[in-house]
Amino acid sequence: MFNAKAYAAAGSTSPLAPATIARRDPAEHDVEIEILFCGVCHSDLHTVRGEWDEFSPTVYPCVPGHEIVGKVARVGSAVKKYKRGDLVGVGCLVDSDRTCPECQDGLEQLCPNMVLTYNSPDKHAGGVTFGGYSESIVVEERFVLRVPENLSPAAAAPLLCAGITTYSPLRRRGVGKGQKVGVVGLGGLGHMGVKFARALGAHVVVFTTSPGKKEDALRLGAHETVVSRNADEMAKHAGSFDFILDTVSADHDVNAYLQLLRGDGNLTLVGAPPRPLAISAFNLLIGRHTLSGSLIGGIPETQEMLDFCGKHEIASDVEVIPIQKINEAYERLLRSDVRYRFSIDMASLRR
Ligand code: NAP
Ligand code: ZN
Repeated sequence: MFNAKAYAAAGSTSPLAPATIARRDPAEHDVEIEILFCGVCHSDLHTVRGEWDEFSPTVYPCVPGHEIVGKVARVGSAVKKYKRGDLVGVGCLVDSDRTCPECQDGLEQLCPNMVLTYNSPDKHAGGVTFGGYSESIVVEERFVLRVPENLSPAAAAPLLCAGITTYSPLRRRGVGKGQKVGVVGLGGLGHMGVKFARALGAHVVVFTTSPGKKEDALRLGAHETVVSRNADEMAKHAGSFDFILDTVSADHDVNAYLQLLRGDGNLTLVGAPPRPLAISAFNLLIGRHTLSGSLIGGIPETQEMLDFCGKHEIASDVEVIPIQKINEAYERLLRSDVRYRFSIDMASLRR
């Protein structure tokens, strides 16, 4: 084991503060990564503040962070894919059982025994896994991704969660040319959803509660924007969408969006508000609409997404922050005041 600097929360009402954590020395199949940047996902905030406790209790101290980009520092003797100095990434998963049918299909995100990058039981070190708000992490080769060298590492980091979480359902639903696609919420996930839906050839409409984001939405690739609190603007789109991706992190009315779907249209939730949603059955019955959920993506699809981003020069719009500003960044995230992802420069932790 070796010590690593990190930022941790001691409890659901404690701010994140400097901490020292233990990382394992790389075993045969392990890759030790010197973390350069880590994106700030709203899931980090939900977890740190215990907002998902009913579903998945937070164990403290909690070191969040699952949008990790860094350089390979050391590799175990059996590691084949990576060598010292390679630019790599780690997303939300660091392990799974590898034997279930889902794992065998490369759908590790559906494995009943998946191990999340933070707040999951750590079979190596005991306790729970610690995430990327840290100077280093040790992960088995199989869960390490290759990051295209033509992308800026700070802007590539959010691809590891916000990127794959939006790319996966768009691909699964066959989004492409000739389809009208809505993206609800223009935050970290939402802005990546817009970029991908546009790159895949769809007609893209952004729904936002922030009128000030309208111009940005168009710049990011949307064809149209709707301020969702304006009922007239909403009504103009009734019954017209093939697919809507809902990325909202807080309570909101999903019925208003189900009514915008055309026949057989689908609304996929990727946002994870802590409280249950109310759905009117009629909004599903009429038009044979479906409501789905989607969780990140598997390792092969995450690599496919990264390669797609390298080829199309797609990355996140980031505001780079030092780790010392993380608590302020959480407050801004709650006010929807981020354009469009905070990316922590981990050099600030080493100072
Ligand atoms: P984020 O950057 O905070 O973006 C969320 C956006 O939702 C905000 O920018 C805002 O957009 C909108 N919003 C916020 N509060 C709202 C409200 N009360 N009513 C309507 N709209 C509101 O968060 P994120 O990192 O993108 O994450 C979004 C959600 O996805 C979180 O719940 C997170 O935990 C979840 N998540 C799920 C997965 C998965 O695998 N399914 C992966 C990562 C994250 P506007 O200003 O445009 O309205
Ligand atoms: Zn995330």
